[in-house]
Amino acid sequence: MTDLYTRHKAVLPDWLALYYADPVELTHGEGRHVWDATGRRYLDFFGGILTTMTAHALPEVTKAVAEQAGRLIHSSTLYLNRPMVDLAERIAALSGIPDARVFFTASGTEANDAALLLATTHRRSNQILAMRNSYHGRSFATVGITGNRSWSPTSLSPLQTLYVHGGVRTRGPYAALGDAEFTAACVTDLRDMLGQAGGCVAALIAEPVQGVGGFTSPPDGLYGAFREVLDEHGILWIADEVQTGWGRTGDHFWGWQAHAQAGPPDLLTFAKGIGNGMSIGGVVGRAEVMNCLDANSISTFGGSPVTMAAGLANLTYLLEHDLQGNARRVGGLLIERLRAICAQLPAVREVRGRGLMIGVELVRPGTDEAAPDAAAAVLEAAREGGLLLGKGGGHSTSVLRIAPPLTLTVAEAEEGAAILERALHSL
Ligand code: PMP
Repeated sequence: MTDLYTRHKAVLPDWLALYYADPVELTHGEGRHVWDATGRRYLDFFGGILTTMTAHALPEVTKAVAEQAGRLIHSSTLYLNRPMVDLAERIAALSGIPDARVFFTASGTEANDAALLLATTHRRSNQILAMRNSYHGRSFATVGITGNRSWSPTSLSPLQTLYVHGGVRTRGPYAALGDAEFTAACVTDLRDMLGQAGGCVAALIAEPVQGVGGFTSPPDGLYGAFREVLDEHGILWIADEVQTGWGRTGDHFWGWQAHAQAGPPDLLTFAKGIGNGMSIGGVVGRAEVMNCLDANSISTFGGSPVTMAAGLANLTYLLEHDLQGNARRVGGLLIERLRAICAQLPAVREVRGRGLMIGVELVRPGTDEAAPDAAAAVLEAAREGGLLLGKGGGHSTSVLRIAPPLTLTVAEAEEGAAILERALHSL
């Protein structure tokens, strides 16, 4: 164990998660690779969703950040801020939401918190519909709507939350149903929940593809079917695009577009990779909802000129280089390759995903039981082989999560798949 690990344990709280029995200290990165303090290089198959959506040390972003940091680092409130207005205009235009307004925060948690504040204020109700197995952040309000209990360390929520089926396709009572039957069953469940709610419900919040929950997607169109029910009651729809936004899912720029007949959400939250590692979160939504607060501002750092400069440079890069198309092409090849690798492995229940958001669900061989120990072992073995992976999953962390930077090349996808194949065979 390194001296840094001992110091970390002595000064930081116990629940601060660290991967690996011997945790990695990262020192620098470039492209799709990172290096540790011993000089070892790793192919990064997880950093793309944690923070570094595009590439490590992307020169365009580094330059924009350095220039802005050398000019002015300040708050986003009280004074006009050109990079913030520039980025807000671009996100409003990309959102698909007519007459949109944008509000920036410093994290995804705060973005969802702000969306809940807006929705509950607009609807004068603290009742929220959320999806089973969901993850929305770590503030008091967002843990209260997070369906994945292992990420929700308190039940003392200021919100009344009702959990709806639909986010997890692969397990649970409706798992054996076809797309149309699954959707119909979930709509019935939604109506049932609304019957139980009694009185006004503010909003339904959902991740188009559940991230922390293990990269599970409902059938396309599910949220469109939900929207028809929500509209009958004037309930708002909040799409949490913190993991699914900016083209990661390949076929769509936003995850909600797989449910396009729903139309754009009333509120859409984003974060993580848009700053390519700089802390940007935010909400974009219909003006009527966004303007409902009687407030001054609700974030000091959200929209800071330096993070906005990073966001502008990163967004420009990802649009100019069609990284959504790259996610579709390279992600498509990678998922095919992984399916071929895993076809004969009894420890793999499913390889699933969209674009560069791919999950490999592990089970105890010959059963349907989750296998968190196997997932931890594969993570260790992959690291030994020079590949960093993520973990997730609903009732247990037995899904390997693959979400590399969106610039991943075909050669790197092949290399990562080969390392993962060896790690899986070492089980
Ligand atoms: N929503 C989703 C879907 C997320 O995956 C996360 C982070 N894992 C959050 C919200 C919270 O974002 P942050 O960690 O930036 O607060």
